[in-house]
Amino acid sequence: MANGEKRDYYEILGVHKNASETEIKKAFRKLAIQFHPDKNPGDKEAEERFKEATEAYEVLSDAQKRAQYDQFGHAGVSGAGGFSGGGFGGFGAGSPFGDIFSDIFGDIFGGGGAGRRTQGRRGDDLLYNMEITFEEAAFGCEKKIDIPYAKRCTSCNGSGAKPGTDPKICPTCRGAGQVRYQQGFFSVSKTCGQCNGEGKVVDDPCAECHGRGSVKDSKTLSVKVPGGVETGSRLKLSGEGGQGVKGGPNGDLYVAISVKEHSIFQREDDNVVCEIPISFAQAALGCEIEVPTLDGKVSMKIPEGTQSGKIYRLRGKGIPSLQGYGRGDQLVVVKVETPTNLSGKQKELLEEFAKISGEEAHPMKKGFLDKVMDFLS
Ligand SMILES: [Zn+2]
Ligand SMILES: [Zn+2]
Repeated sequence: MANGEKRDYYEILGVHKNASETEIKKAFRKLAIQFHPDKNPGDKEAEERFKEATEAYEVLSDAQKRAQYDQFGHAGVSGAGGFSGGGFGGFGAGSPFGDIFSDIFGDIFGGGGAGRRTQGRRGDDLLYNMEITFEEAAFGCEKKIDIPYAKRCTSCNGSGAKPGTDPKICPTCRGAGQVRYQQGFFSVSKTCGQCNGEGKVVDDPCAECHGRGSVKDSKTLSVKVPGGVETGSRLKLSGEGGQGVKGGPNGDLYVAISVKEHSIFQREDDNVVCEIPISFAQAALGCEIEVPTLDGKVSMKIPEGTQSGKIYRLRGKGIPSLQGYGRGDQLVVVKVETPTNLSGKQKELLEEFAKISGEEAHPMKKGFLDKVMDFLS
């Protein structure tokens, strides 16, 4: 089709020069329904009208192409003639028609949009595994992380084609990104294998990105980790994932938290648990000990006669709640340590101690022995 024979795009769609995007879309939609080849099998005239309308819409629906067309006429958008090759491969979901086609024809032709291709593609979601300390998890922290991502190639501006050249409309699918084939009674669409659904192929690849349109880069992000997170917590940073393709939105970045084990503290919900060993004499006589907490050392009174396994609670010394409601407690578990490696002198004293210790010094033991006697008698 020579440019000289081309009708004015506005005339084809039957809209005036100042028509809004919506008016243009509406006009095309009407013509597309009327002249779509699936509705007019074998009708060459309808096919021509459909192609004409499609080409006009491709230009007028794109603000940049429309501006070029307004200024230079058909010469300004010569790249747009991709549909003039004759014959229909698969018009089902070609860019920029993916939306409008599935929109219109999803119902009419019962196509449900199999393999529907939208114009922009959302970037990938990324997962970053972050290890932090017990204290960082408790009180929150700010961490700098390096995120690898695919950046649009500046040399070819993302097209993948060598600067000065343009990607060609894919000859297999004629730019639709989809090919149709007949399977029994059904016409099936699938993603075009030559262009991977892009609708375009690059003959002369950009040297910078080898035709991919993107290059590897990394960005440094500052991540605010809120106090109260634990292993398994996930933070979501919207839009910080992989870059969207062709105007699609960026993906999201997820940061998965894993908390390193602490040498003295363990976590139970929002409580911090810590075991403190004391000597047999300290337990019997009572004492004052220093207990480490997340806020530093505190001193704690152990009353005389404290048994092993006794739990003392230090209120408000635990983990701040992730929801922001106060803090948990610290639970101090007292462990009475039985002395080992005794010297002769120590043994002597202990034997002396045992001799003069009546049953009233060991009420638990007496109670137990009484129960055993009952049980055996
Ligand atoms: Zn490039
Ligand atoms: Zn293709």
